[in-house]
Amino acid sequence: MSKQYDIVVMGAGHNGLVAACYLAKAGKKVLVVERNKWAGGGVVTQELTVPGFRHDQHSISHVCLAANPMMTDDELGLLGKFDLNYNFLDIPSITLFPDGTHLCLYKDVDKTCESIAQFSQRDAETYRKHATFGKKVVPMFLQGMYSPPAPMGAFLSMLDQSQEGRDLFQMMTRSPLDILNYMYESDKVKIHFMKPVAQLLQMPDDMGTGLCMLMIPGLMHTYGIPKPVGGSGRLTDALIRCFEHYGGEVVMESQVDKVVTKHGRAVGLRTQDGQLHTAKDAVLAAIHPKRLDRFIDGLDEDLLRRANRVKSSPFNILTAHYAINEKAKFFAGDVVTKASATEYATTMNFKEFVDQFEPLRRGEVIREKLMFSGADQSHHDPSRAPPGKGVMLTQAFVPYFLKDGGPQRWDDYKEEVADMILDGMRPFISNFTAENIIARTVDSPLDHERHSPNSFVDGDEHGLGTYFFQGGSNRPIPELSNYTVPGVSGLYLCGPFMHPSGGVFGGGRATAIKMFQDLGLDFQKVVDQDRVKLTRTTGFEKKAPPVEAAPPEVSAAPVAAAAVQTAQAAAAEHDVVLYGGDGEPMISISSLEAGEAGLLINGRIYGTVPLRATLKPADLRRSLGLLSWGLIPFLIKLLFKR
Ligand SMILES: Cc1cc2nc3c(=O)[nH]c(=O)nc-3n(C[C@H](O)[C@H](O)[C@H](O)COP(=O)(O)OP(=O)(O)OC[C@H]3O[C@@H](n4cnc5c(N)ncnc54)[C@H](O)[C@@H]3O)c2cc1C
Repeated sequence: MSKQYDIVVMGAGHNGLVAACYLAKAGKKVLVVERNKWAGGGVVTQELTVPGFRHDQHSISHVCLAANPMMTDDELGLLGKFDLNYNFLDIPSITLFPDGTHLCLYKDVDKTCESIAQFSQRDAETYRKHATFGKKVVPMFLQGMYSPPAPMGAFLSMLDQSQEGRDLFQMMTRSPLDILNYMYESDKVKIHFMKPVAQLLQMPDDMGTGLCMLMIPGLMHTYGIPKPVGGSGRLTDALIRCFEHYGGEVVMESQVDKVVTKHGRAVGLRTQDGQLHTAKDAVLAAIHPKRLDRFIDGLDEDLLRRANRVKSSPFNILTAHYAINEKAKFFAGDVVTKASATEYATTMNFKEFVDQFEPLRRGEVIREKLMFSGADQSHHDPSRAPPGKGVMLTQAFVPYFLKDGGPQRWDDYKEEVADMILDGMRPFISNFTAENIIARTVDSPLDHERHSPNSFVDGDEHGLGTYFFQGGSNRPIPELSNYTVPGVSGLYLCGPFMHPSGGVFGGGRATAIKMFQDLGLDFQKVVDQDRVKLTRTTGFEKKAPPVEAAPPEVSAAPVAAAAVQTAQAAAAEHDVVLYGGDGEPMISISSLEAGEAGLLINGRIYGTVPLRATLKPADLRRSLGLLSWGLIPFLIKLLFKR
């Protein structure tokens, strides 16, 4: 028998669950249908090897979530009410070199510069400026990450308003290799910064991926690395608790095979066993653009053609999870155990390092050119393994399409590649020996795709490549970027292939905002209701963006930091602020001046990018025209509203 809901959701990935929680909190009757035995999709912690050892099967760290108002304002009560706790690690990444040296990226800029200065004083000085610029622009980008994307045209013209914006455009459209080569001189420093970029599944020379060169330092020096205590899946557990608290229902091991439509409107989901879950208001589904035609009948051929043209990431990841008897011990010392991500360089020559990406383009895995990373998660979180024991995760970049045998060959080949990673790591870890290993589970890109076949298409953990041409309101393609599907009303999309991107962003919030708008619900009002006051520090507290005039390290000095806060408060009091649909400050106007050409407007866009615009006489007349007589009583009332 089918049951009627207000909203039905295909997929209990974190994005679907996030959207479902907001909708359930708004009082909607919501059902989530999930094909796996586990909820969370790529946000899951399971006993993959032997009982008592808890492994993050896909995502590990939640850095993309760090500035999401869902966390910073605890909009869903995940932290205050539903028992979610995070560790914030102060060493986001460390690179170990074959000569025994290492380089650390600390949350602290000074310490990072000290680490770089071991290899190049000049690079340390360059990095200080680089990190400061990154910290400055990150708030602007983050503003737009957790709500529907701004139109690309408006975004580009905003960048074109200032030198800073034009510099940003340059970085966004160039390649990481380009940027590293013109900024830095030391090969070790370049390798150290290229490795985290590659973790985003980007080739060093991919044009239109350079933004990460700013976002990574900006995020790391503002937030560090958040990891849920108990494993990545704790986020999913908290979302499920929240969802059920607000009356939501989840059905597991039930595979959706069709979005049911009636007269061009989505009215429900049909599962493989023939059940129909009907929805009065809307259907939300985690469907990759390349899979739309499998789930929805009658879509426009042109739309499907454009959706099929999206570009996947150029390579993927193979993961091997180990239960180990004794925690991992590193030749480089205990500093490694404090780092979130540990990268292993097998060469100290940057050209050779860049050449290691070449086999990936050809669908090959070459032992001598394998690039790998890995850490024992129990070092930061003892709850993950029995006392004294460890959970080691190792990863390597690999192609999805193998030159010999295609993706299907992975089932026979994955153990061999996992052994190659193990051999590669042994010179860095003293006890990664056969005797210390209790059990291992290996997942190839093909396995990742099997775990979430409508997100991780072609084994791509980001759903799609994170290229400039398919970012923001072009993600996945302009026609689908508004979370809706042309030709089918009442159908909404979420997933790593949508804005903001692949990763644990809590991007379902943006889809929820769009659905709230269409359903005539007040997002802010719903978010504000039933709030619990947090009585503990969570690490997610809102971070003030650095102020331009202040020296780079100002936030470290309490007196200077207080001055910054005072300046910001004063600015906030005197500026006229225009808010976006989600109540986020978008444009602040600090002064209006008489100019030769018209009225000069000075301020900031998204808190950081300078705005200096002229309102010309003809446009002023047009503005007055927009302000029809009918609005005058409303404006008078607005003046006196508190
Ligand atoms: C190996 C690996 C490592 C990663 N590491 C990180 C990391 O450290 N940090 C980070 O931020 N990100 C990481 N990611 C990426 C991150 O996991 C994903 O971007 C994220 O999980 C996407 O979330 P989602 O909810 O949109 O989609 P998914 O997590 O893919 O969830 C989609 C859900 O829909 C379900 N579903 C699909 N089809 C159907 C159907 N027909 N019927 C019913 N249910 C269906 C799936 O089973 C799944 O549960 C990693 C990914 C992988 C694979």
